[in-house]
Amino acid sequence: MEKKQDCCSATAYLHLKHRADAMGASMMPVYQTSAFSHSTAEELEQIFKNQKPGFTYSRVGNPTVNAFENQMARLEGGLSATACASGSAAIACCFMTLLKSGDNVVVPTGLYGGTLNWLKDLEAFGITTHFVEAFTAENVAAAIDEKTRLVFTEIISNPKIEVVDVKALADAAHGAAIPLVVDATAVTPSLMRPIAFGADIVVHSSSKYINGNGSGVSGVIVDSGRFPWKKSGKFDEVLPCQRFGPAAFTAKLRNTIWQDVGACLSPVHAWLNLSGLETLPLRMKTICENAQALAEFLEAQDGIEEVNYPGLASSPWHGHTDQFAHHRGGGLLTVRLGSKARAFQLINHLKLALNLPNIGDTKTLVLHPASTIFVHSDQKAREAAGVYDDTVRISVGLEDIKDIISDFVQALESLNESI
Ligand SMILES: *Cc1c(COP(=O)(O)O)cnc(C)c1O
Repeated sequence: MEKKQDCCSATAYLHLKHRADAMGASMMPVYQTSAFSHSTAEELEQIFKNQKPGFTYSRVGNPTVNAFENQMARLEGGLSATACASGSAAIACCFMTLLKSGDNVVVPTGLYGGTLNWLKDLEAFGITTHFVEAFTAENVAAAIDEKTRLVFTEIISNPKIEVVDVKALADAAHGAAIPLVVDATAVTPSLMRPIAFGADIVVHSSSKYINGNGSGVSGVIVDSGRFPWKKSGKFDEVLPCQRFGPAAFTAKLRNTIWQDVGACLSPVHAWLNLSGLETLPLRMKTICENAQALAEFLEAQDGIEEVNYPGLASSPWHGHTDQFAHHRGGGLLTVRLGSKARAFQLINHLKLALNLPNIGDTKTLVLHPASTIFVHSDQKAREAAGVYDDTVRISVGLEDIKDIISDFVQALESLNESI
């Protein structure tokens, strides 16, 4: 396993590569405009023909959105980034750029519910999914066939909290001349930069830790620029491999799929993300420390049957935290309470933790996944995604750890009295 924990310094998060504007603004301004005028028809023609850089229409490009894209590309160590209206739009645009009818993808069973729904949507377009339960390189290699065009996984899966070995999976995908696409939402570049471990494309729901305040939905796709599309020989029909070489994925994404479906991010949301990114390393550090302390505390409590957190030695994926800066375990954990009634009671008795379907906020959040984000999945699919009737997901926030623990103490006390 790769031991290198390649992460940017806190400084890189605070300073953009290019200073914001001529006025000396310390933050990138919000260019809240739909379109950009040019003095001559010739100039606009040149921009439309990609012969000259410039902005035309905000569905295709916007300076504030571009600043967020450039900062994400830089923080991830990628060639370029494309911002999207949501994490779901990022995943959808990525798949639509790489796949055609007849292709299949290899994914783990433990994925974000919305992504599982998207894979179902794709069946209508002749694209099928090979699900793998334990997402090891060996099992993935066995699931790849001649029609497989990508391997997709979350690095810390939500809500199964499985941690995959990115380097080993990249090797397995590359052995079959196909790319590894990772959803790094729960990791963020401050815990791990997946491109350094061999991932070819990184997607994020930046609605979560990157925005950080839960103040707006957004997504982003980062292209490493390293996958040899032409040499692979498997993408000649879908990508402009001859013309753009290693930039072929982004060239098609930006010039067709992404702009044609209108998946663009709004300038205000890009600005919220730029603001969020500045404090990402600080937030992730405290969030991970809080999550570790809460997981250790909960593991020692009667009435909690299981605590699933990669930072615990009891986690089957503890070894894979080697990939993360300071071996941190992330901000997500799940607990099992023994019954749905007890899971509901715990949530109902918590006073500080908010009961809502989100993760990666400044505030501690809880959710009963089986009755909410997985309510439309059958029991088999739910359990394969690590969601049982008694599972509660916790996204740990930035409150003082003693307050988070006290909240769980009083909720567990009330729960044990009432049942
Ligand atoms: C939330 C989430 C998504 C979907 O992102 P949206 O911004 O809600 O569309 C995708 N993957 C993971 C791991 C997520 O947590």
